[in-house]
Amino acid sequence: MRREIHLYPDPVLRQRSEPILKLDDEIRALADEMVETLILRVGYGLAAPQVSVTKRLIIVDVEDELYIVANPEIVKMSAEKVLGIEGCLSIPGIETEIERAKQVRVEGLTLQNEKISVDAEGLLARVFQHEVDHLNGILFIDHVGRAKRQLLLKEYEKLKDKPKTKARAKALL
Ligand SMILES: [Zn+2]
Repeated sequence: MRREIHLYPDPVLRQRSEPILKLDDEIRALADEMVETLILRVGYGLAAPQVSVTKRLIIVDVEDELYIVANPEIVKMSAEKVLGIEGCLSIPGIETEIERAKQVRVEGLTLQNEKISVDAEGLLARVFQHEVDHLNGILFIDHVGRAKRQLLLKEYEKLKDKPKTKARAKALL
């Protein structure tokens, strides 16, 4: 079943998500629904709070690799940063350049309750950082200055009622 993606400024996007204590069928069903939602919406990643579930679960789908990670933690981050265009399925229609660490190591649990460690670089690293931010109530627009953010949000307000007026690139996380 496809889930509804909650849009900014829904307060659920600002909540800090809770750790998953038990990887049960309920979590696995949620993961299935998130994968389906992400594929239908043609995005690179999705975090549970975007479908209004404040649990620490993310889906990352980059270059034919699908990662489903519970309780993801960024345990290592390169000092080197890179700029890249980002958008968000919860703030459709706007995109901007964001600085992120070039490489990260993400640790967490698979749906089988096994430890997973991913060394990510480039786009994959960017998507992981974006999705882990969601679990902490942080949005990509928080990474730009106040003036730029206000400009982006103004643009978003204009587009909100007619989201199809702008062609969408697959830069939606
Ligand atoms: Zn997002």
